[in-house]
Amino acid sequence: MKINLPEKAKKIIDILEKNLFECYAVGGCVRDSLLGLEPSDWDFTTNARPHEIEECFCDFKTLSIGKRYGTIAVIIDGKPYEITTYRYDGEYTDFRHPDKVNFSKNLKDDLSRRDFTVNAMAYNPKEGIVDYFGGEKDLKYKVIRCVGDADNRFKEDALRILRALRFASKYGFSIELQTQKAIFDNKNLINNISAERISVELLQLLCGNYVDVVLRMYKEIVAVIIPELSVTFNFDQRSPHHNRTLYKHIVCAVKNIEADPILRLTMLLHDIGKPITMKIDKNGRGHFYNHPKVGVGISIRIMKRLCLSNTVIDEVSILIFHHDDRLKPDKIMIKHLLNEIGLYEFKRLMKVQYADICAQSNYKRDEKFALHKEVMNLYNSIVENGECFSLDSLEINGKDIISLGVSRGEIIGKILNELLEMVICKQIENDKEQLLYKAKEMINVLE
Ligand code: ATP
Ligand code: MG
Repeated sequence: MKINLPEKAKKIIDILEKNLFECYAVGGCVRDSLLGLEPSDWDFTTNARPHEIEECFCDFKTLSIGKRYGTIAVIIDGKPYEITTYRYDGEYTDFRHPDKVNFSKNLKDDLSRRDFTVNAMAYNPKEGIVDYFGGEKDLKYKVIRCVGDADNRFKEDALRILRALRFASKYGFSIELQTQKAIFDNKNLINNISAERISVELLQLLCGNYVDVVLRMYKEIVAVIIPELSVTFNFDQRSPHHNRTLYKHIVCAVKNIEADPILRLTMLLHDIGKPITMKIDKNGRGHFYNHPKVGVGISIRIMKRLCLSNTVIDEVSILIFHHDDRLKPDKIMIKHLLNEIGLYEFKRLMKVQYADICAQSNYKRDEKFALHKEVMNLYNSIVENGECFSLDSLEINGKDIISLGVSRGEIIGKILNELLEMVICKQIENDKEQLLYKAKEMINVLE
């Protein structure tokens, strides 16, 4: 099997070989090339020691990004290529990092420390694929299998559990039975992994094409990362809008939205406020008043625990808060929401609402989609016509009010907001002259 190495990758291998070292492309880039996918980056493994790598690439800019682990990044045309010395890992006592890294002279040692067979292949144009653990066969049959004893491998480093799920979600691979058993047996070791690493894996897992399969099969693992979701697993919503348990609805909603980490995370958490807000009426039907607001509170706690950035937390919160807003095909209502959350979030919210409807039962489905479409049409016409819905697009600003003799900030704000409200409600045109006239009237009343 031949892999098309990019010129720069060939150059790296060439330079090391000219200096009488071995060098191979390794890991994800070999896996992705064999799958016919464009690798996101090219990593290399070599028997050269870090200082020798630096010597070989003295004509290039290099960065020592993990000398302790033997990794040197060579920068070619502004792009880093990571070259790592063959190594085998020492003992692991923190379930994540080897206590000691040992350099090796032997490629097989290096490949045997890697997580899964499909990630443990090396390639070099002269030798072709080097595959000691059956990675090519597992790739062909779409299997994720640990290199060596699965139980030990997850005990060494529990992040591998999430990596296995991430690859299953991204490529639609199944996880081999021993590996699967070891994942479940060692699931609680995930609690030893830093929140930052967990959330990087979680967001990637959520963005996989096969996320629904993984979230359903591995919900026990989801429950370790986000225990708050456990109550949704068998939760019957007792509502004609739903024909699935709450968790199945959530999973379906995640799958139905585009693979954007924030949108996928929003769908994962959007209904998390439902179980505690449920009220059952006299007909036995479930209602969930206030669940978006309660859900935002729970979600913020979860996202903070996962050390997600404030940008992510803020956006997910806005989307969850409004996910169940019953928007009417009414420009005034739409403009009020646009003023509150802005064009970008409004559009994202419409995607959230669409995915949510797709994951509900057929009950009133056509009506829901028709309404969604009407709201989208009105939104589009507001945007196309450049209609005013915020202070930014109002034809007068603070300076204009000051020029009318008002100096107190809060009064200026009050006048501008009242004018905006009148423009949104079509009581007055968004026309500078008319707005100034109205502003003068208001000032007279205030004085
Ligand atoms: P991606 O396409 O997401 O970059 P990748 O497999 O290349 O996937 P990296 O994190 O870039 O993932 O790791 C590069 C290689 O290093 C992997 O293919 C694997 O061989 C090895 N590796 C990474 N993380 C681990 C780990 N936790 N345990 C063992 N081997 C690992
Ligand atoms: Mg990689």
